[in-house]
Amino acid sequence: RNLELEQQLQAHEWTSKLYHFLLKNTEHGKPAMDYLKSRGFTDKAIDTFQIGYAPARWDTLVQFLEKRSFDLGTMEKGGLLSAKQDGTGYVDRFRDRVIFPLHNRNGKVIALAGRVLGEGQPKYLNSPESKLFSKSRTLYNLHQAKSEIRKSRQIILFEGYGDVISAWEAGVHNGVATMGTALTESHAAMMRGLADEIIVCYDGDNAGQAAALKSIPILESIGFNTKIALLSEGLDPDEFIQKYGAERFRHQVLDGAVSSVKFKLIYLKKNHILLEEDGKVAYIKDALEVIAPLPSPTEREIYLKEMSADLQVSFDSLKQECNEMRQAMQ
Ligand code: ATP
Ligand code: MN
Ligand code: MN
Ligand code: MN
Repeated sequence: RNLELEQQLQAHEWTSKLYHFLLKNTEHGKPAMDYLKSRGFTDKAIDTFQIGYAPARWDTLVQFLEKRSFDLGTMEKGGLLSAKQDGTGYVDRFRDRVIFPLHNRNGKVIALAGRVLGEGQPKYLNSPESKLFSKSRTLYNLHQAKSEIRKSRQIILFEGYGDVISAWEAGVHNGVATMGTALTESHAAMMRGLADEIIVCYDGDNAGQAAALKSIPILESIGFNTKIALLSEGLDPDEFIQKYGAERFRHQVLDGAVSSVKFKLIYLKKNHILLEEDGKVAYIKDALEVIAPLPSPTEREIYLKEMSADLQVSFDSLKQECNEMRQAMQ
């Protein structure tokens, strides 16, 4: 059992090296390299993140692993190969894809993610869950970001690979990603020892904002000071950096990250139709449910004053309703 894991780790290490080599040094890798360059990824980023290319053939990796006497069944369990449908052998799991190796926190490669060049489905193909790799317990780039996170006591949390890599190129070296899955309590626990503050920097589309909202209680219940970065035009962080540059990403998006309370209020406001009285009343009720539990009276007052000015509702009636809600909560 342990020997199997050792072999799978060894194979992942060699496979990611092979794919990285093929991307950088072969004709086969050229379209993938062109694709990465077209996205603005530099040679330095390609090396730092060990990005690679898995060729289109069915047996590049099968042959490579066979030559090194790896047991192919073990490799299939580890997720590098797929069993043929007719049971006569194995084929490469990743074909004609850009490869992002996923590391555990000690820097060992434990899985791969493969992206199609351009359009195509599925956009990303991941290694399956295995003894080696559990998506809900893995954070992309944690092994490299660890030291900067410890120094700054802060983490920037992204959704995707491209976001981490573009942010890294923009000088943000404390970024990690949940890789599209919902943030789990295991993720939060892994990060908690390293930092006190976290900026959730998810995609600016509806899915990303909804996921950011869901992450707040998980992060706050474990004691993180949690802020949320807001991205305009539904852009994701990678797209924002490519469009507006590193400076604006750091100073507008990250420095402008809002408190979790502010984010909840912004989120609620976006999801209510405030032109109608019904919608306005419903929004106020939902917003007061966010404000009422805040322990600090001044903090409550600040948000209530903002709401009063924003909605043209008197401060007194907002305050009264807020206090009634507080009493009912006790
Ligand atoms: P790109 O910039 O390469 O188009 P993205 O990171 O912006 O990709 P999103 O659709 O925003 O892609 O998804 C965020 C993350 O979710 C991805 O980086 C990836 O980790 C994960 N993901 C997305 N689609 C899939 C999929 N089909 N299978 C597995 N993981 C996925
Ligand atoms: Mn998204
Ligand atoms: Mn995205
Ligand atoms: Mn993207």
